[in-house]
Amino acid sequence: MATRIPDISAAATLDAAAPFQRQNDVLHCEDVPLPELVARWGTPLYVYSRGAVRRRYHELDEALSPVPHLIAYSVKANPNLALLRTLAEMGAGADVVSGGELRRARMAGIPGERIVFSGVGKTINELALGLNEEIYAFNVESEGELCALSDLACAMGKKAPVAIRINPDIDSPTPHHYTRTGHAATKFGIAAARARDLYSIAARLQGIRVLGIDVHIGSQILDVAPFGLALDAILELVHKLKQEDIPLEFLDLGGGLGISYQGEPAATAQAFADAVVPLVAETGLRLVVEPGRYIVGEAGVLLTRVIYVKEGGGKRFVITDAGMNDLIRPSHYSGWHAVEPVESHDRPLGTVDIVGPICETGDFLALDREIEIPKPGELLAIHTVGAYGFSMSSQYNQRPRPAEVLVDGETATLVRRRETFEDLVAAEVGL
Ligand code: PLP
Repeated sequence: MATRIPDISAAATLDAAAPFQRQNDVLHCEDVPLPELVARWGTPLYVYSRGAVRRRYHELDEALSPVPHLIAYSVKANPNLALLRTLAEMGAGADVVSGGELRRARMAGIPGERIVFSGVGKTINELALGLNEEIYAFNVESEGELCALSDLACAMGKKAPVAIRINPDIDSPTPHHYTRTGHAATKFGIAAARARDLYSIAARLQGIRVLGIDVHIGSQILDVAPFGLALDAILELVHKLKQEDIPLEFLDLGGGLGISYQGEPAATAQAFADAVVPLVAETGLRLVVEPGRYIVGEAGVLLTRVIYVKEGGGKRFVITDAGMNDLIRPSHYSGWHAVEPVESHDRPLGTVDIVGPICETGDFLALDREIEIPKPGELLAIHTVGAYGFSMSSQYNQRPRPAEVLVDGETATLVRRRETFEDLVAAEVGL
């Protein structure tokens, strides 16, 4: 008889506050059995725990409480309006990287004064939107952007609040090189050696109000040391700018705080705060952080139904109705997500590749996993997909995107309906 070992970290299953727990062999989100959600809304289905999102935000907020701070949730991680509203109600701000994200943040009730606008390629229309919404700051990444913003602000009779994003040339240890943004050879930020010049230019520009300094070194950083290095790099600059009579109001340390996907140790909010708060406190500056994954990553699962199980080439394939268009992290970033049956049947364990229906060899959700071998029709839960799950999904292969459900205690609410074929063709014209 096989022991029932779900393919998920022991740490997560034993944690009393874990949002997804088994009760009588059935996986629940908070107090709701996951099969009930599938019966109502089908598969593939993203399910989020509201309690888990709130807990994460609260932990970070508490840890940073010794200094004035703004938690600007990084909307790209998961832009669902119900999640944004949950965070807005708790006092969160937003880090946005497009006009669309800015409009979503405002729509969810996040005031402009709590929004920072990041990104290397903001268009004139996006800059104008930010000015109209009176956002807290534009995190500027080039001299071209700085000048365009100043001209635009002058034309609109405004002054644009600005932080300059510094590239500290730190090769942060993230699991995939696509998520490292702090070393010199990336497109991000201004080299530290050039930053003082840009600040002097900014201080003289009519349409600019110099307000802060910004850095973001990458995503899924499990250790606090790289944040300390990034902070050191910009504190030196803060000091020099003060001597040059360019005082700042805030310091933005970006996002990137990692989470545990496979039971690996991840820095807690308190460890992060211990590493940065004393240094920030000395400056008297307001601390801005832009966490995305840390807030929502562990709060989500993707539920999928097994369509077929087949063997070939020495492999056993479990073919599911979710594919790389629904969750691209495994194929794009080699992202690892725990997978387990929603209802355990106490069957033998076996090694399988869990793959989607899309016509790409890269269409997989998990490779070489030892799980209780499912039968067609059964449900699997793909864990830790609250961040960069739905937000990176697409309609590739003309597959309507999944529905999203938010669970709060015993209550489950559909917060985004499943797309339809009509949605797939709605934007096409001249037929
Ligand atoms: N801030 C900026 C500028 C980013 O580019 C990103 C992610 O790419 C984030 C914040 C959020 O990162 P994470 O979700 O790892 O916290």
